[in-house]
Amino acid sequence: MSDLPERIEAAIGTVLPRDGFKALHEPRFAGNEWAYVKECIDTGWVSSAGKFVDRFEQELASYTGAAHAIAVANGTAALHVALQLAGVKADDEVLLPALTFAATATSVAYCGATPHFVDSAEATLGVDPVALRRHLEKTADANGGSCINRTTGRAIRAVVPMHTFGHPVELDGLLAVAADFGLVVVEDAAESLGSLYRDRHTGTFGRLGTLSFNGNKTITTGGGGAILTNDPDLAKRAKHLTTTAKVPHRWEYFHDQIGYNYRLPNLNAALGCAQLEQLPAFIDSKRRLYDRYARAFAGFRGASVFSEPEHARSNYWLQTLLLDEGESAERDAVLARTNDAGYMTRPAWTLLSRLPMYTACPSAPLPIAESLARRIINVPSSSGLA
Ligand SMILES: *Cc1c(COP(=O)(O)O)cnc(C)c1O
Repeated sequence: MSDLPERIEAAIGTVLPRDGFKALHEPRFAGNEWAYVKECIDTGWVSSAGKFVDRFEQELASYTGAAHAIAVANGTAALHVALQLAGVKADDEVLLPALTFAATATSVAYCGATPHFVDSAEATLGVDPVALRRHLEKTADANGGSCINRTTGRAIRAVVPMHTFGHPVELDGLLAVAADFGLVVVEDAAESLGSLYRDRHTGTFGRLGTLSFNGNKTITTGGGGAILTNDPDLAKRAKHLTTTAKVPHRWEYFHDQIGYNYRLPNLNAALGCAQLEQLPAFIDSKRRLYDRYARAFAGFRGASVFSEPEHARSNYWLQTLLLDEGESAERDAVLARTNDAGYMTRPAWTLLSRLPMYTACPSAPLPIAESLARRIINVPSSSGLA
């Protein structure tokens, strides 16, 4: 029997005290959360309008460097509307990694479009631009600004890179492929608030980008999300579409298209304002926690700690162990052992291409994503742990 599970538990034990259950990622409320939420209740502004929504949007824009940020109900809603604004229509295809959270694909399906899965890179855990180009050269025709899948005859409209566990994908290469094949880029930056690629914030490279403030993310509003864009027209349309598409008027209820009630309530935005004030400190803690895991696993036989890619500064949202390929059969034994010891560890998502509703979707070969899915183990990552 392999001693890998036991050795991994011991190494984690040198990073985290054995004084009770350690969650994978729990929120931390150490600032103005109570004061801001109380202000909402005291003033009666708890719902879909209020000064915290405007302030949260302005502060998100200024923190990320995006010209505009639109706060919405959650990250999935943000992706849905961003894709619609990117021009994704029924019967289009959208390229996305197979190794991602379900929302990256469900939002494509909400548009009536079909996910088209592509492989990931070992160095970033996200879409591999080299493999993407090779795949498109083999399967698609790009002409006159549109990209057609030669097999299905459908238009491939957009590509949605996802910055896995906070680590930025290789954006220079990805943007070049997108430009050559006429694809709109929508970044799923749900996991990468605070992560930079060449000193610029993730989610600001594509035509639109999206964030999530779910309870397990780097900062939380309970539930929430945001759309980022530098285009003032797209920003205006994003706000309109996510607030029921009502035309402003003193008393008339007139909606000029089918909009969505995807507003972020003021209560949640109040939490978000308090959390944003602490974001730099959260990221410092998460980077210190990474250093401690990296030291604990230096020279370790059979597994390594994943480090931020070149040209990137990662928020280290989730700390990641990568088992050596030869040890991937031990993954479940490692998960069982560490969870039994009170360390909440989790494997990567089941590749979306294997979920029943997507098995018939077009896909590139996925050798790296398959390998990563066998080898990834996320370990306790809360900012409070450092
Ligand atoms: C969290 C997350 C989302 C959005 O999730 P919500 O729970 O809807 O806020 C989208 N994509 C990825 C990759 C995520 O991790």
